[in-house]
Amino acid sequence: EGDARANIGVVGLAVMGSNLARNLASREGNTVAVFNRSRSKTDELLEAHPEAEFVASFSYEDFAASLSKPRTAIIMVKAGRPTDFVIDELVKVFEPGDIIVDGGNALFTDTIRREKAVRDTGINYVGMGVSGGEEGALLGPSIMPGGSDEAWATLGPILKSIAAIAEGEPCVTHVGHDGAGHFVKMVHNGIEYADMQLIAEAYDLIRHATGKTPAEIADVFAEWNRGELESYLIEITAEVLRQVDAETGKPLVDVILDQAGAKGTGAWTVQTALDLGVPVSGIAEATFARSLSSHPEQREVSRELPGPSGTDVLSGDDADAFIEQVRLALYASKIVAYSQGFDEIRAGAAQYDWKIDLGAVSKIFRGGCIIRAQFLNRIAEAYDAQPELPVLLTAPYFVEALGRAQDSWRTIVSLAAAGGIPAPAFSSSLAYYDGLRAERLPAALIQGQRDFFGAHTYRRIDKEGTFHTLWSGDR
Ligand code: NAP
Repeated sequence: EGDARANIGVVGLAVMGSNLARNLASREGNTVAVFNRSRSKTDELLEAHPEAEFVASFSYEDFAASLSKPRTAIIMVKAGRPTDFVIDELVKVFEPGDIIVDGGNALFTDTIRREKAVRDTGINYVGMGVSGGEEGALLGPSIMPGGSDEAWATLGPILKSIAAIAEGEPCVTHVGHDGAGHFVKMVHNGIEYADMQLIAEAYDLIRHATGKTPAEIADVFAEWNRGELESYLIEITAEVLRQVDAETGKPLVDVILDQAGAKGTGAWTVQTALDLGVPVSGIAEATFARSLSSHPEQREVSRELPGPSGTDVLSGDDADAFIEQVRLALYASKIVAYSQGFDEIRAGAAQYDWKIDLGAVSKIFRGGCIIRAQFLNRIAEAYDAQPELPVLLTAPYFVEALGRAQDSWRTIVSLAAAGGIPAPAFSSSLAYYDGLRAERLPAALIQGQRDFFGAHTYRRIDKEGTFHTLWSGDR
C-alpha cells in the first residue's frame, strides 16, 4: 500500500472530469488520482497541468492502488451505460467501506438501482448532482450528493472545499439517501428550463410590442438585473442580446437558428412529475416550447395560419409602462415555476422516503449553478420560517410579490393572446395561480362526467363516503 498517495480520484477526464480534478487538486491537502478509459485524455491533462501533481493510472487496478482508504472516486463519464461499465470495473478493485461517486447526470431511478446493487458489496455508492457546467466544475460547482451518512462523513469535507461559496456558505448539502441528489439535480435543470423560457418570452413580448432592438432590450435586462430579478440567467441574457455577429454585423440572436436543443433532463423532470401527480406546468411548457421550436417542417406549413390583425407598436411612456408590466409578469411566473419545482422535490421526497431540507436545497442553488439568483434567499427564508410549507408561493413574501404583480401579469397574458405572441409559460403559470386560488374548480364537473360514463363514483362536499348516481343516460 506504500503508493496509496491520493485521497480522492476522478474517473473520466473529458471537460467535466478534468475540471473537477483540477478543482480538487487546487485545494489544500488533496492529492488527486486520475484515470480515463483512453490514455490520450490523461496524457493531455498531465501535460497541460503539471502544477496539479496528479497521480495518473492507466488501469483500474493501478487507479485503486493509488488511493488511500477509504478509497473515494468520482466518476465523470457519459451518463447511461458507460457509468454502469465504470461502476462494474471499480467494484472489482475496491473494497467494503470504499466510496464510488457518480457525478454525471444520471436519472435518479438509475442511481437508486445502482446504489442498491453496489450496497450489496459493502462499498458505498453516492449519486451526486453537479451543476454549473465546465466553469462550475473548475471554479466551484453547486453539488447535490445523495448516498449514505457514512459516505457523506468522508465526502462532505472534500466537497465543501471545492463547492461554490454563496454568502459564506459552501453550495453543497447531503440532500438525502440513494437517488435524492440526482433527483434534486434533475428538478434543478427543469427549473432552469422554465426560467430560460420565461426570460425568452419576456424578450419576445418586448420586441414585438415595442419594436426595440436586441441591444436596447439588453439594456432592459441589465437594468432588471439590479432589482429583485437579479440572477445569472438575466445577466447573461443581456450579454447574449448585446452580441453582434462578426460576419454579418447583425444582432447575433437574429442569426442563430431558432430551434432549441435539449439533453433530456427537462423531459425527465416532467415525466417524473406526471408520475408523482405534481403539476409542474411551467417546466412542462418550457420543455414543449423547445420541442415546438425544433419541428421546422411543422412550422414551415403553419406559417400561413391566420393570426390577429396588426397591433400598434408602443413607444415612449407606453413602451416603458409595458416593459415594467412584463418585468412583474416575469417575476410572478418565476415564483410559480420555482414553487412548482420545489413541490416536485417535496413530492419526490415523500414518495422515495428521503428527508430533504428544502431550505438547504434552495441555499445550495445560490452559487455555482445556472439558476443562481437573489431570489433563492427568499425561498430559503420561506422554508426556514415554515419547513412544512405545502405550497411555496403561499409564503408571505411571495403572496405580497404576487399581489403586487398580478394585475400586470394578467394584462401581459391578455396582450400576448390578443397580439398572437406565444407566451406559453407566462400564461400557464397564471392559470396555475388562478387554479390554486379558486374556491371551486370545475373538477366537480369532471367527476360527474367520470361517474356518468364509467361509474367511477365521486365524493360529496356534505357527507363522507363515495357515491354513484343513476344517470338518466345509464344503459
Ligand atoms: P462526456 O462527453 O459526457 O463523456 C466523455 C467521457 O466519458 C470520456 O472521459 C470518455 O472516455 C468517458 N466514457 C465514455 N464511455 C465510456 C466507457 N464505456 N467506459 C469508460 N469511460 C467512458 O463528458 P463530459 O461532458 O465531461 O460530462 C461528464 C458527465 O458530466 C456526464 O454525465 C454529463 O452528463 C455530466 N455533465 C454535467 C454538466 C453540468 O453542468 N453539470 C455539464 C456537462 C456534463 P474516453 O475519453 O475514453 O472516450
